[in-house]
Amino acid sequence: MRGALGGSGVLLRRLREVMAAPVSPQERLDRLVVVIAGNLVAEVCSVYVLREDGSLELYATEGLNREAVHLTTMRAGEGLVGLIASEAEPLALSDAQSHPAFSYRPETGEEIYRSFLGVPILRGGAVMGVLVVQNRASRLYSEDEVESLQTTAMIMAEMIAAGGLKALSKPGATIGLDRPIHSIGTTLADGVGLGHAVLHEPRVAITNLIAEDPGREVQRLEAAIATMRLAIDELIERGDVAHTGEHRDVLETFRMFAHDQGWLRRMREVVMTGLTAEAAVERVQSDTRAKMLRQTDPYLRERLHDLDDLANRLLRTLVGKSNGVTREDLPENAILIARSMGPAALLDYDRRHLRGVVLEEGGPTSHIAIVARALGIPAVGEIANATALIQAGDAVIVDGQAGEVQIRPQPDVENAYKDKARLRARKQEQYRKLKTQPAVTKDGVEIQLQINAGLLVDMANLEETNASGVGLFRTELQFMVAQHMPTTAEQQALYDAVLKVANGRPVTFRTLDIGGDKVLPYMERLEEENPALGWRAIRIGLDRPRLLRAQVRALLRAGAGCDMKIMLPMVATVNEFLRARMLVRRELAMLERDGRPAPASLKLGVMVEVPSLLFELPEIAREADFLSVGTNDLMQFLFAADRENKRVSDRFDPLSAAGLRALRNIVDEAAKADCPVTVCGEMGGKPIETLALIALGYRSFSMSSASIGPVKAMLRALDAGKARQRLDAWLGSSDGAASLRPLLAALAAEMKVPV
Ligand code: PEP
Ligand code: MG
Repeated sequence: MRGALGGSGVLLRRLREVMAAPVSPQERLDRLVVVIAGNLVAEVCSVYVLREDGSLELYATEGLNREAVHLTTMRAGEGLVGLIASEAEPLALSDAQSHPAFSYRPETGEEIYRSFLGVPILRGGAVMGVLVVQNRASRLYSEDEVESLQTTAMIMAEMIAAGGLKALSKPGATIGLDRPIHSIGTTLADGVGLGHAVLHEPRVAITNLIAEDPGREVQRLEAAIATMRLAIDELIERGDVAHTGEHRDVLETFRMFAHDQGWLRRMREVVMTGLTAEAAVERVQSDTRAKMLRQTDPYLRERLHDLDDLANRLLRTLVGKSNGVTREDLPENAILIARSMGPAALLDYDRRHLRGVVLEEGGPTSHIAIVARALGIPAVGEIANATALIQAGDAVIVDGQAGEVQIRPQPDVENAYKDKARLRARKQEQYRKLKTQPAVTKDGVEIQLQINAGLLVDMANLEETNASGVGLFRTELQFMVAQHMPTTAEQQALYDAVLKVANGRPVTFRTLDIGGDKVLPYMERLEEENPALGWRAIRIGLDRPRLLRAQVRALLRAGAGCDMKIMLPMVATVNEFLRARMLVRRELAMLERDGRPAPASLKLGVMVEVPSLLFELPEIAREADFLSVGTNDLMQFLFAADRENKRVSDRFDPLSAAGLRALRNIVDEAAKADCPVTVCGEMGGKPIETLALIALGYRSFSMSSASIGPVKAMLRALDAGKARQRLDAWLGSSDGAASLRPLLAALAAEMKVPV
């Protein structure tokens, strides 16, 4: 570090003295800028702190007019100081005034200073302010000086975070750390939750910043790096990681980063400036995070993410495990904040106290999203840098409906959300009142409403909604949240428990629908060009009959004495159904041969979700005991529009002539063959879509439990006969409109049907 140790060693010692002095926060800041200016042989040293409104306020200065303190503010992006805050990068200039971003503030008297060096005050990647030194003469600041100033800025960041400066802010102006943030992500689970932040695996708190003995700190850092590398090697060599495939590749890349010389050199250099090993890791991590936030290239972002992960490991090694909240003693009204989280981790928390989940990662199909939905916990994903921006205990609002998060909201925002939550609660109350009312349309058509489920925790919704049964039990969820492949006995135990809770109401178990986006962590992942069109669901079941047979056995055993309903996903041809039926019949025969109790009756149905089956409808309706329309997949394949790809998923409307005619064929052919048919895709749970489906002739639906109330309220106000007439007419004379939705909405309004 070319002699920097001497310079910054002295500086850090002086800073420590100032930090320890029993003086007011303003006095401390005033002394700090004097020390920094003296050490860097600069005529000016100034501290700007980021305020709630995004502007930067001058908090202390040595060299500029002192009267300007707490008066001068720079708007976000304004001047060199604003530029540093928005870019989160240091800026060194030998001729500041010739820089296009230079903005002159007469009250500070800074026009006489030519050279300028500014660094962002960063904490956890978030900008909290800017630290500046200036010189009258034109000069080049050395790398060591930039480094030194960054190190000082880190200490300042901790001072700001510790709240020492709060008292200094002007009335009405709050410093950046406390400013409200409105962040937009993606909806993982619907609902609105208000509460206070609890950090899942919080960042490690660093209390010891300045080193007593830099040599020892280098040794500590080296030892921690060695421990980290060893742990990663072990992780890779352990038997439970597949020897090939993506998982392995990811870990290998991770290992490569753990040996990244540039990254390790950065940390060593920072230790040499006089920080403790953990403070050095934190500083480099903070820079990495700041870069990550501004990085749009997904590859580089991922790379920075890996470095961030490694830094966390190092911190835990150096400081010991962070003392997070234990899962059992979660405070009331908790909003969990995490980078990412496995589904099992969420299930570990006490659900009664959980009001919401905020994740930095996690798309709508992630397992955590599935579990959050099952538990009815509002959740939002893809909130960039949430774990750095949100402090434990901060007020947070999760709007799972809009996919938004309000961090430290202003009172009026909070009140608006309280109203929203109250409105939802009132609606829920109205739906609850409908609970005992029959699901019958205004013109007397009976409709069957069932719920979709997948975990035991979902089953409580059966009683709560008074639904007539479970129309789709997604058995793959047990496999997805487990650490290992569930044994036949474990599968049977779940099915036993489900049937017990159902207490005589019918449950339709769908056999494993894995593959595609539904990946099992312990199963080797195949590289497929188009996983949605790949080796999945019944295709795996027929190619790996042991897996399917074991599941069917578990289902048949659990169903002893019951009326069992099993259905098969992703069936593309009648032939596939017949092959699977043979397998099921063989299992049933074996059960009887072994003298075990068999189900009282067994109905084997099929999901209609692959368009090819639309051209074998009479045959499949004759062979299968029932049909269940999976509109999620059916529509994605019908329109060739990936249901997970936001760019195209909403491009085509199922309520278009093409979508509705396909659905009409299914219900018509099922009626001709006297084969019961249900809709279990998302379409069946959206009031306006359900209205259209009832008009087409569908009488049975299975949906998320939250949809039961709105759908029941809709259908009880509906004249199904009139809706049918209108829809028939529209479909008979399609005029090429992209969607019939506007016509259906107008019809609903005309009939005063809430949709
Ligand atoms: C569907 O495809 O509509 C369906 C209900 O199944 P899943 O969403 O589990 O694919
Ligand atoms: Mg499907």
